[in-house]
Amino acid sequence: MSKVYTFSVKTPQTTAMIDITRQVQEALINSRVMNGICIVFIPHTTAAVTINENADPDVVRDFLMEINKVIPFSDGYQHMEGNSAAHIKSSLMGFSETIIIEDGRLLLGTWQGIYLTEYDGPRVRKVHVKILEG
Ligand code: ZN
Repeated sequence: MSKVYTFSVKTPQTTAMIDITRQVQEALINSRVMNGICIVFIPHTTAAVTINENADPDVVRDFLMEINKVIPFSDGYQHMEGNSAAHIKSSLMGFSETIIIEDGRLLLGTWQGIYLTEYDGPRVRKVHVKILEG
């Protein structure tokens, strides 16, 4: 039976995208699984995970600029904690990604990286990785 690999990520500011590809690859190496499925899961309600370009840092900057426009920080929200924008952004982005494993490697595209996306930082976030052989 495969175990769950968990690591922590410190996020630097209110909204951020942190490349976690290397940590997910390390979990895969530790699992010794050569072929199967890798699930990355974020156990939080104001953070998420996504896959996108990790070559040009302007992609991250543009992404955060636009998502903060689409879901503004204040817009007459009722939620007492004051972080409704973060809850909405994280649900829109989603809490898990599934990546195919082939020959011991994540089958990501050339320009793809796995990002933890933060919407209510700075905080320390957990990332769970489950690797299934098959
Ligand atoms: Zn809240």
